[in-house]
Parts: sequence; structure tokens; C-alpha cells
Amino acid sequence: MAKVEELGAAVATARRLAEDVLAPRAAAVDAERRWPAEGVAALRAELGGLVVPESCGGMGHGLLAVAQVGEATGRSCASTSLCFGMHLVASAVIAAKATGDQRSRYLKSIAAGEHLTTLALSEPGTGGEFWISRTEMTTHDDDLRLTGAKSFVTNGGHADSYVVSTVAADTEALPGQFSCVVVDRDTPGLVWGAPWQGMGMRGNASGGLTLDAAVVPRSRLLGEEGDEIWYVFNVVAPFFLMAMAGTYLGVSAAALEEARRHVLGRQYAHSGADLAANPLVQHRLGTMWARVERTRRLVYQAALEAEAGGPEALLGLCSAKAEVAETAERVINDALTLTGGIGYAQDGPLHRHLRDARAAHVMAPLTDTLRTWTGRALLGRPLLGD
Ligand SMILES: Cc1cc2nc3c(=O)[nH]c(=O)nc-3n(C[C@H](O)[C@H](O)[C@H](O)COP(=O)(O)OP(=O)(O)OC[C@H]3O[C@@H](n4cnc5c(N)ncnc54)[C@H](O)[C@@H]3O)c2cc1C
Repeated sequence: MAKVEELGAAVATARRLAEDVLAPRAAAVDAERRWPAEGVAALRAELGGLVVPESCGGMGHGLLAVAQVGEATGRSCASTSLCFGMHLVASAVIAAKATGDQRSRYLKSIAAGEHLTTLALSEPGTGGEFWISRTEMTTHDDDLRLTGAKSFVTNGGHADSYVVSTVAADTEALPGQFSCVVVDRDTPGLVWGAPWQGMGMRGNASGGLTLDAAVVPRSRLLGEEGDEIWYVFNVVAPFFLMAMAGTYLGVSAAALEEARRHVLGRQYAHSGADLAANPLVQHRLGTMWARVERTRRLVYQAALEAEAGGPEALLGLCSAKAEVAETAERVINDALTLTGGIGYAQDGPLHRHLRDARAAHVMAPLTDTLRTWTGRALLGRPLLGD
């Protein structure tokens, strides 16, 4: 099968699982703040190896697949979509420079749908500058010892492994150099914080993690010591931006559909008039569609250009996630307006979408940071620094 057909099949699988497994559970995942075990298990089993190289048994897809699968899953349940999205990002990080041991230990079981991984980069002290780590890594013969704190770890306590960023241990490393390490879930010294109580994304289990002298074999180091910035800008950021953009694009599309459904079903007793016959309502709905569609085209075009290594790839990737965050906020608010007091009174999907979508701005790279990076790139300045 050609790669483009394989991608179509993967997205069709994501849509099927989203409708059959994610959608029926989305309200309960939100209301009960429970990690979406069934949805993640279904996605992991059939699409877990989406971005794992074919040489390891995976599907060998890239950024476009992550965005399109994210849209399909985000339509039904943003929490599940992001939990699975973080697995895809971390899989891509492990795959980028995997050693033979890492290929057989992690990538083959991810491709077989048997292993869930995730990212633990953000720290309380460095906030949205997620690429900077203060977690210490020291070497002890063939082991690495990790000590520090991570602030938000999606799939926390549920994933089989965690890609953790640390300060480089190598005494020769330049100041500010960091390293990435894979840490297995049963590693002694992992202490999980209080349960996740976020305003939205309630099923994420994005809790804090303390690494209390956690010891892992040196073979779990990803790439070379000091490689973390390479990983952040070449793998984490592109894949994460597309996982996020896809997810909140799906949320936007779901909100549009909620509004359309409500408008189609609303008729007034006193006049017999349909809300759908109101020109202002028609205009508002048409504008919402255009916002979602132009954002979708930006996201997918950005993914394609980044996969092709095009000159404006960085501008597109940064702007795609920033635009999606703004589109979701705007479209969900407009949908709430169109559903009126009835929509306001019902604790339905739009309420969940509104709470979930607020996370899009504050998950790093933050919307404000992405706008600034885009401007810096346009001005020929490096993304980081003065
Ligand atoms: C639901 C959810 C899931 C998450 N999952 C993960 C995960 O799995 N792994 C992980 O590593 N992290 C994760 N994070 C963390 C996330 O990526 C961010 O690091 C975190 O949300 C930043 O929060 P903060 O309060 O420290 O922000 P701060 O850095 O304190 O920023 C607060 C605000 O200040 C402004 N601001 C800050 N810096 C700048 C700047 N440079 N330019 C312009 N304005 C700026 C922005 O308006 C920003 O919103 C998650 C976060 C959420 C909400």
C-alpha cells in the first residue's frame, strides 16, 4: 500500500476508535476526572506505533499523521487525544537516535501496541521554558542518578516509561546543556504528587513527579549527553505542536457541530420560526466554519511543509498551534452564544470543550512564545536568547 493510503487507513482507524470507544466515555472521563484507560488502550493497541520506524515494526508516519489522528480523537475526547498525543511525541523522541537496545526495549513493544510512553520535561522552576531543566543527572559507573521535580506529566503514573529531561552530567558539557533519559515506570525513586485537578483536560492525569535519586542504567540516555536542545527543537516541538494542533482542531470542529445541531433543532412555539432561518445565525455559523477550515488548512500545510523540510516550516508549525488555540477559544464561545440559555444551562459537551480548550494557550510552547518565535524568525533572529 502506498504511504498516503496507509495514512488514510490510520486516520480511518482513529475515527472509528474515536466514535466507538472515546466518544461514549468522554463525559464520564471529564466528570470523574479519570484517566481514560479504555480509550488510550484502544489507540495504543491499533495505532501505538504510528510514528515508530517501519524497521522496528511501526507505521513510520510523521507530523501530518499526528495532526490528523489528533483531530479525529480530539473531536471525541480532548483528554484521551492529548494522552495519546504525548505517547506519540515521546515515541518520536525515543526513535530519533535510538540505540539497538532502545529499539528492542522500547520501540518494538511500542510498535506492537504493548507499551505507553510519555514526556516529563516541564518543571516548577522554569515554567513554559520547558526546554530548560534543573533536574540533576549524575553518573555512577554504568548508572545515571536523577534528582529533581517535574510539574506536569500527562499520563503520570499510567505510562510504562517517561522521557525525562535533565541537566547534562558530563563535566565537560557546556553550562546550559541538557540530556534526555528514558525512565521506566517501576524505577525506585519516582514519587507522584497530588492527583491532577485541572480546570479542563480532566482525564489527563497531568500530575507532578519528584525524582528522588532515581537510578536508571546509562543505556537509557537518548543520543549524546547535551543533546536535549537538539531533541526539543527537532523532535519535541514539531511533534508536540502537531499533536496539540490536531487535538484542539478536533475540539473546534466538535463545537461547530454542536452549534449546527442546536440551530437545526430549535424552533419557536410563538411564531413557528426556525432558528436556522435567521440570517444573522447563518452568517455566524458560516464564519465559524471558515475559522475552523482555514486553521485546518494551516495545520495540515504546516505539517506537510515541515515533513518536506520547507523554508517556512518553522513559521507554519509555530503559527499553527497558536492559531488553533485562538480558533478553539473563539469558535467554542460562538457556539455557546448560538446555543443560547439552553446551552448555557446544560452541562453538556460545550462546557467541556471550553474548559479543555483553555489548556491550548498555556501548554508550552505557550501561544505568546510561539508568536514571539515566529516574529524572531521573520526578523532573522535566533529563537532563544536576546
Ligand atoms: C493540561 C496540561 C498538560 C501538560 N502536560 C505536560 C506534559 O505531559 N509534559 C510536560 O513536560 N509538560 C506538560 N505541561 C506543562 C506545559 O507544557 C507548560 O510547561 C506549563 O503549562 C507552563 O505553566 P506555568 O504556569 O509554569 O507557565 P509560566 O511559564 O509561568 O507562564 C505563565 C504565562 O506567562 C506568559 N509567559 C511566560 N513566558 C513567556 C514568554 N517567554 N513570552 C511571552 N509570555 C510568556 C504567558 O502568558 C504564560 O501563559 C502540561 C500543562 C497542562 C496545562
